[in-house]
Order: sequence, then structure tokens, then C-alpha cells
Amino acid sequence: MVKFYNTFTKKKEEFYPIEDKIVRMYTCGPTVYDFAHIGNFRAYVFEDLLHRFLEYIGYRVIRVMNITDVDDKTIKGAKKEGISLKEYTDRYIKYFLEDMDILRLKKPDFMPRATEHIKEMVQLIKKLLDKGYAYYKGNSIYFSISKFPNYGKLSGIDLSNVKIGARVDSDEYEKEDVRDFVLWKEAKEHEGVYWETEIGRGRPGWHIECSAMSMKYLGETFDIHTGGVDNIFPHHENEIAQSESATGKKFVNYWLHCAHLLVNGEKMSKSKGNFYTLRDLLSKNYNPVAIRYLLLSAHYRDPLNFTEKSLKQAENTVKNYNEFYQGLNICASEKNNPVIKQEIEKAKKSFIEGLSDDLNISFSLSSIFNFIKNINVFFSKGEFGKENVKEVKDFIEDIDRVLCIIEKKEESLPAEFLNLIRKREQARKNKDFVEADKIRDFLKQKGIILEDTPYGTRWKKIK
Ligand code: AMP
Ligand code: ZN
Repeated sequence: MVKFYNTFTKKKEEFYPIEDKIVRMYTCGPTVYDFAHIGNFRAYVFEDLLHRFLEYIGYRVIRVMNITDVDDKTIKGAKKEGISLKEYTDRYIKYFLEDMDILRLKKPDFMPRATEHIKEMVQLIKKLLDKGYAYYKGNSIYFSISKFPNYGKLSGIDLSNVKIGARVDSDEYEKEDVRDFVLWKEAKEHEGVYWETEIGRGRPGWHIECSAMSMKYLGETFDIHTGGVDNIFPHHENEIAQSESATGKKFVNYWLHCAHLLVNGEKMSKSKGNFYTLRDLLSKNYNPVAIRYLLLSAHYRDPLNFTEKSLKQAENTVKNYNEFYQGLNICASEKNNPVIKQEIEKAKKSFIEGLSDDLNISFSLSSIFNFIKNINVFFSKGEFGKENVKEVKDFIEDIDRVLCIIEKKEESLPAEFLNLIRKREQARKNKDFVEADKIRDFLKQKGIILEDTPYGTRWKKIK
């Protein structure tokens, strides 16, 4: 039984998708005006874990992540460089996709761009106008929050003490109620970015983007919507209001939000300047797999304080884990140990049990580390057969479909080197240590280190 904490109901709930065996999931994606920082990637790594885990336990996941490629920041960035909006955002989309690859984030099935879905947004806004949920003020269009009684259910925000009609200086456009939010922004000639549409000349607001694109690809009601906690209000609250007003149906069944990545107790963010991009960390020679591991290994609803020290610790963990995996190239004994299979079954069960409980990754990881500890004991006692090597290797590769922290799949050696290792083992048995050392030195020159254990010889490539 899988359970998730649903921000909407504020409870951990059993998870049942609408359609058996299929999960439809939406993720708020990046605004492509700059490099994403690792705070953003905490959200994407959490969503990746969720995606991969659901697949691991047998669901087909249909997932959408939008790309916000038109807003104040992208327009400003393009203007500053004197290039088109498309040219500007294409560049940051490319970087984002590269970063996703580096962090081993699974590509969602659809990554729709806002600018390619203006038609869908216009249709949705028209529907809201027709049904009386939206109104024009000048040539901009607003959503009227007073028409949606459920407003605030997701975030628990109480807007009743915000005075209707109050004016807020930062509002660019006049609206009837200060709480209302913009659906469509009137064209500003100096920006030069607008669409001629049946609702007027302008560009969409941010919130309508996610409603239009999620419903286009996933239907009017879908299973899971994710984001960081900062998205809950107003963004997701507004998505619910627009979507449910337009369709008269429930928009999303499960809302999952991750806590922030912090720096010295404060949210990592562009505006505070306390951020690292992935590239900042790579240029300091940090291992990207360790960055993934660090972001992955804390529970998604717990704030995570980022320090370079914790990243170094993550590097060590990833290194040890991979050494264990790479060390499984042992020439083990012929005798199979049936207990190993039981250990694997136990570890797999705990791994799934942890993640099924609202993605309790700490539980899952500790079951894996315990497993490794136990296996190493069998190793050191020589109670480990050839078949066991394969079983353990298969298991580590199996859970790596979720964790993705194996550095390299099994390294192989050319047959001639493997033959030499065997020849050397024979030589050792015959007490021909001169020959054995000769082979060891030869392989060392080729970048292969040998380690003799009571139950066979392991090899390792030097990087
Ligand atoms: P943005 O580009 O600001 O819309 O953010 C993209 C995603 O990153 C959203 O899901 C945000 O909630 C999330 N996010 C932004 N900053 C952080 C942070 N410091 N920690 C975790 N998630 C974040
Ligand atoms: Zn969104």
C-alpha cells in the first residue's frame, strides 16, 4: 500500500490513481531565464524519485513538466541581450536539459513550452469569461476569487481580511479586488512580446499556463501535482481556482510539495544570491552523482540545509557504495550460499516499504546499507558463491532504477587480462610468486589493481 502526504487534505493518504496501473502526474517546471540552482533541483530530484519509484512498483507514469518561456524575466533577459525571446529561452532550455541529464533526472513524457500553448490558454480564459469567473479590466483579464468559494483550501490561507478594493502599488493593472490574479496581460508595446488572439492582444499570466498545459496532456482531473512548498500559494491555489471553475470538476487528487533547500537556514534562491548552480559545484570538482544523492537522501518534506561539508559526505557515501558494487567482480567460490537470496528479498521488501510510506527514503537507504554490511560479512568469511555475486549485482542494479547512483555499470576487462588474472591465481596456488608478481606488475601498468582475498582475486581499474 502506497501512501502520500496530500497537501490538500493535510493527511497521509493511501494512493489510488484514477486509472488502474497508470499515474498521471504534473510538475511545475523551470522559468528559463537563467541556470536553475540546486534548490530548484531539490524539487526536480524529489519529483524524479517519485516518478521512478512509481514505475519501479509497476505503474506506468505519464508525466508533464512545463517550461515557462515567457514572463517578465525572460522578456527582460532577451531585451538586454538584444536577441529574440526564443533564442534566449532556447539557450536556457538546453542548459536545463543538460543539467537534468547530469543529475540523471528522467525526462517527463511531455515538456510543453508556454509559448506553444497560447491557443489552449486562450480557450481556457474564454471559458472563464463565459462562465463569469473572469473579467476585463482595461485589456487585461482577471480571475475573480470571490466567485470561487473553495479558494484557500490548499494553502489554508484566509483572504477574508484582505480588503476588497484596496490598492497595492505593485499591481501593474487595476483590478476589482486586490486578491484577484491576472489571467491575461494586456500587450505592452515596448516589450514587443504579445499574441493577437480572440481575447485581445497580450500574453498569458503564469498560473493559467499550468492549468492549460496540465489538462491538455493529462485530462481535466489527474492524479498527482507536485512542486516546491513556495508554489502552494498563490500558484497552485490559483491553478485549482481556474481549472475547477472552468471544468466544474476536481482538478487534482494528490498534491505533493517538497520543502526547501536552505543555506544557513534560509531558502536558497536567486533573489537572495545564496545559490549554487549545478555548474558552480561541478567547476569545484564535486561529483554530480553525489549532488543527486545529497538531494535525494533527505526526506522531501524536511528542509535540507546545504553545505559543502554535507556534499563531501555524500561523495564518500557514493564512493563506498560504488566500491561495494564494483567489488562484486570477485572470482568467488563455486558454492552458492542460499542465505544471500533471503537477504536480498528482505532488503528489497524494506526498500519498497520505506518509499511506499510517503517516500521515506531514509528507511529505504538504511535497509540497503544494512544489507551491504551483512553481505560484506559473508564476503569476508568466504561464504559467497559465484551465483551470489550475480544475485547481489542484479539487486543493486535493480534498485538503481530508482536511486541512480551507480557510477558505472559493471566494468569489464578484455578477455586477455581476465585470463592473466586466472593464470596468476594458478601461479599463486603453485607458489610461483615470481610469476604471480610479474603478472600483477604488468596489470598495474595497464591501470588494473589486484586485491587478493581468501576467496579469490578482485580487480579494480585506476581512474
Ligand atoms: P521557479 O523557477 O522559481 O518557479 O522554481 C522551480 C521549482 O523549484 C519550483 O517547484 C519551486 O518550488 C522549486 N524551488 C525553488 N527554490 C527552491 C528551494 N530553495 N528548495 C526547493 N525547491 C525550490
Ligand atoms: Zn505551475
